[in-house]
Amino acid sequence: MSEIIIGIDLGTTNSEVAIVENGRSTIIADSEGRKILPSFVGIGENGEILVGEAARNQYMLYPERTVKSIKRSMGEDVRVDLAGHLYSPQEISAVILKRLKSIAEEYLGQPVQKAVITVPAYFSDAQRQATREAGEIAGLEVVRIINEPTAAALAYEARQGAHKRIMVYDLGGGTFDVSIVSMEDDVVEVLASHGNNRLGGDDFDARIVQHLVDYIRETHGVDVSEQRQTMARINRIAEAAKRALSDQPYASIQEEYMAEKDGAPVHLSLELSREDYQDMIAEYVDETFDAIHKALSSANLTTSDIDEILLVGGSTRTPVISERLFEEFRLEPQRNVDPDLCVALGAAIQAASIGGNRVSSVLVDITPYTFGTSAIGPLGDNEFYPHAYVPIIRKNTPLPVRKSEAFYTMVDGQKDVRCTIYQGEDFDALNNIKIGEFMITGLRDVPAGNVITVSLDLDINGILHVSATEKETGLEKSITINNVIGHFQEEALEQARSRVSALFGASVEQLASGEAAQANGVAGEDTEKTKTLILRARLLMEKASEEDKEDIIDLLEQINDAASKNDPVALGTAMNTLTDILFYLEN
Ligand code: AMP
Repeated sequence: MSEIIIGIDLGTTNSEVAIVENGRSTIIADSEGRKILPSFVGIGENGEILVGEAARNQYMLYPERTVKSIKRSMGEDVRVDLAGHLYSPQEISAVILKRLKSIAEEYLGQPVQKAVITVPAYFSDAQRQATREAGEIAGLEVVRIINEPTAAALAYEARQGAHKRIMVYDLGGGTFDVSIVSMEDDVVEVLASHGNNRLGGDDFDARIVQHLVDYIRETHGVDVSEQRQTMARINRIAEAAKRALSDQPYASIQEEYMAEKDGAPVHLSLELSREDYQDMIAEYVDETFDAIHKALSSANLTTSDIDEILLVGGSTRTPVISERLFEEFRLEPQRNVDPDLCVALGAAIQAASIGGNRVSSVLVDITPYTFGTSAIGPLGDNEFYPHAYVPIIRKNTPLPVRKSEAFYTMVDGQKDVRCTIYQGEDFDALNNIKIGEFMITGLRDVPAGNVITVSLDLDINGILHVSATEKETGLEKSITINNVIGHFQEEALEQARSRVSALFGASVEQLASGEAAQANGVAGEDTEKTKTLILRARLLMEKASEEDKEDIIDLLEQINDAASKNDPVALGTAMNTLTDILFYLEN
């Protein structure tokens, strides 16, 4: 049996351990099934050592007995105070590493002596050396220290050998960095890295905390900012609301007994919208984009040189991040490896290859399809299409997943709404596969704009639970659709095949024969899809930025070119890219 080397992501907020088993990289969970160990170390009430969850739980109440974010001090000649004793950053990190080592040993049933540990690309020699020492203190031989973006790239590209330039956007709890990585055969090189090791999800939480404190002050006249216990609670509430807003358009905050005013309890009851939250964090998000441009310019590259964007760190689940990345790069960021886990998964891949093991892939359970519903969408300034597709769960999202979107009634006094669920990628819902439909009836008699939230809940077994809820009243209708992942595979393939042949069969010849020139120099009139795509492109061209306009014209030319060369693959690729651009211009 080959020797065991574990891969460790020793993070500022959270840490994980992974191993390659049967050719696949897998995160090792602790005996309670938790895959993530919060990077907190503390001394409990009875003098016992606390690591992870338990230490994090006591942090807000007893900060003097708890240490967080020790990674920020690695390499510095400092001591931290933990319940009256002084420790070096290496020692505190070693406590975390020791816990990860024992999680791996419990799982494997044998001792583990070797590890690969990841560090940020910007870490200096002193910081790397301190990390190595922390490993040694924990009883681990650190066989290699690798860069986090390198590990992330390995986790995504375990099987691929093509030359690529990858941008790794890593936004965690307390740190942000962006790296440009070049990958060729088995060589992964960090070309440039930039960031701020004091920017992350904690700052997002702080904005919500401030909002809640202000709200309590304004509505109840109570200042809770000096009340430790209440502030600890508000922090937890804020973080939960933030996470909820990654999956749904509104977060409802209902908490009782937050404080007392003149002997009477003060409750907290309010709603936070994703839109308002996005405004709160806009300056932080902008800052990450400044860093991206700095990293690109230090690598002498521009946005168009990037082939792939990888998301790392829990905070990248914030939807506005992917949206902004798409706007700037016209690339859909990769999301099929859990952003919390991909660095550890990559560390394990590196560990396995040092140990002489082959790695075929990373173990992930993802949905291979996009699921969504339809709504009335704009075709142009004065035109509307009644079956615009609104994706809710996108393909390659790790399972289980629950996502919601808000919709609005279109007419005054509208009593019911039809909710149709589709599986597919096409902007036109009717070109996708309809997998379920139901009506929600008995809505309030109110003007147009009544909010209906549609939620999709997809579990690991491919069971999709769909519900539509009238936001104001909670009136709900739901259905369950079984086997949405396995069952449709063949059917979806068949549909895709016939769509492709309908699209490229007759029309390609006509396009090549010159009829193309008539329809904006691009495509024949016989394919509904092509026709609609061109119509949308023309309509949207007016409101597109100069840069988008150039892209659209370029793609129309590519479509024309591909059609005249009778190249269905190139034609399909160009049409898909154009569809994506138009979709984002419309939204
Ligand atoms: P990391 O340091 O990579 O483990 O990331 C932890 C950060 O990710 C914390 O600030 C979490 O609050 C944040 N986070 C985790 N899940 C989500 C989510 N669904 N939406 C937004 N932020 C999240």
